[in-house]
Amino acid sequence: MDAEQFELVRQSVRGFIRSEVVPLEAEIDESDEIPSRIRDAAARMGLFGFAIPEEFGGLGFGMVEDVRLAFEMGYTTPAFRSMFSSNNGLAGQVLVWQGTPEQQRRYLPKISSGEFIAAFGLTEPEAGSDPHSMRTTAVADGDGYVITGSKRFITNAPVADIFVVFAKTDHEAPHGGGISAFLVERGTPGLTVGPRDKKMGQHGAWTSEIFFDRMRVGKDALVGGEEGRGFNWAMRSLSRGRLHIAAICVGMAQRLLEESARYASERKQFGQPIGAFQLVQGLLADSQTELYAGKTLVLDAAGKFESGGETRIGPSCAKYFCSEMVGRIADRAVQIFGGSGYMRGTVVERMYRDARLFRLYEGTSQIQQVIIGRHLVKSGPLAV
Ligand SMILES: Cc1cc2nc3c(=O)[nH]c(=O)nc-3n(C[C@H](O)[C@H](O)[C@H](O)COP(=O)(O)OP(=O)(O)OC[C@H]3O[C@@H](n4cnc5c(N)ncnc54)[C@H](O)[C@@H]3O)c2cc1C
Repeated sequence: MDAEQFELVRQSVRGFIRSEVVPLEAEIDESDEIPSRIRDAAARMGLFGFAIPEEFGGLGFGMVEDVRLAFEMGYTTPAFRSMFSSNNGLAGQVLVWQGTPEQQRRYLPKISSGEFIAAFGLTEPEAGSDPHSMRTTAVADGDGYVITGSKRFITNAPVADIFVVFAKTDHEAPHGGGISAFLVERGTPGLTVGPRDKKMGQHGAWTSEIFFDRMRVGKDALVGGEEGRGFNWAMRSLSRGRLHIAAICVGMAQRLLEESARYASERKQFGQPIGAFQLVQGLLADSQTELYAGKTLVLDAAGKFESGGETRIGPSCAKYFCSEMVGRIADRAVQIFGGSGYMRGTVVERMYRDARLFRLYEGTSQIQQVIIGRHLVKSGPLAV
C-alpha cells in the first residue's frame, strides 16, 4: 500500500472513530460491550488485519503506519482497538514471523478478515513479569502433545477462536529457553475458558482465564514446527506491541488535552474562564509538552524499529514514557475538571480509569526500566 492509500485509510478510520465510536463511548463503558455494528464496520475497514501482510488478506502496514493509525485509535475507548489488538499484534505477529506456511495459510486470512479472533496466552497466576517461571507444560506424546496448566488475564479469551499458547517443553533449559508456542482452536477437548474478569476500566475489552486439562493437540499445532523458541518469539512480539501501546497512549493523551482545553475555556470561576488562570495554564502546558515529546519519541522509535536498527530498547522507552505520560495527563485532566472530573459520565473520569492499564500490561513500567537499565549498563546509551 502506498503513502496515498495509507492516508485514505487513516482518514476514514479517523472519521469513523469520531463520528461513530466517540458518541457510543459512555454506552460501551456502562454495558461493557461493543455494539456488533461497530465490530462489523471495523472488519469491513480491514482493521482486524491492518498489520497482517497483504498476501494473507491484511492491509500490510509497517510499524510507522501502525503507530500513525494507533494515534487515531487511541482517541476513543481502548475497547475499540482491543477488539482486533491480538489479531494484528501479539498473536498475529507470532504467526506472521514464525508460522509454518501451512499454519499461515490456515489461520492468517481468517484472522485478517475478523472471521477469527486470536488471543495470546503467556501470563499465568505464578508467571507475570517473569514468564520463564510458567507452569503450563506440553509433553510430547505419540503424534502430538498433551498440554496441562492455565493462563490468566488473557485479552479476548472469552470470544477467541484461536489461542497462541506458550508452554514449557523443556524444564531443564536455561532462562529464556524451553518454552514453545502452540496454536489451540476453541472447542479443543480439555480447553475451558473462564468467566469474564471484572476490570477497573477499559470496559468493552474482555479478559479471562483459560485452563488446559490434559488437552491434546497434534504436532501441527507447534508454531513453526520448532520447540524451545517460544520465549524469544513472545519477546519479539511484545516489542512491537509496546510501540503500538505507546502510540495508543499518545492518541488518548491528545483527546484528554482537547477535553481539558475546551473545559478550561468554558468553565467560569471568579468571573472568568478557569483557563485564564496561569496555574491552570501551567497544567495544560505540562500536558501539551509531554504529549509532544511522547508523539515524537514514538515516531522516532517506530522508524528505527521498521528499519531494523533498534527493535528492543526504543519500544521499551516509548512504552514506559508514554504510558506514564498519559497517566499524568489524565490526572491533570481530572484536576482541571474539578469535582466534575470525579463523576461518572465525564470523559476524563472514564479515561483516567482506562489509562491506568497501560502501565501494567505488555510489561509493567518497572519491567521497561529493567530492560532499558540492563542495556545501558551492558552496552552504554542508545545512539539517538
Ligand atoms: C487487562 C489486562 C489484559 C492483559 N492481557 C494479556 C494477554 O492478552 N496475554 C497475556 O499473556 N497477558 C496479558 N495480561 C497480563 C499482563 O501482561 C501482566 O499482568 C503483567 O505482565 C504483569 O504481571 P503480573 O500481573 O503477574 O504482575 P507481577 O509480575 O506480579 O508484578 C507485580 C509488581 O511487581 C513488579 N515487579 C515484578 N518483577 C519486577 C522486577 N524484576 N523489578 C522490579 N519490579 C518488578 C511489577 O512491576 C509490579 O509492580 C493482561 C493483563 C491485564 C490486567
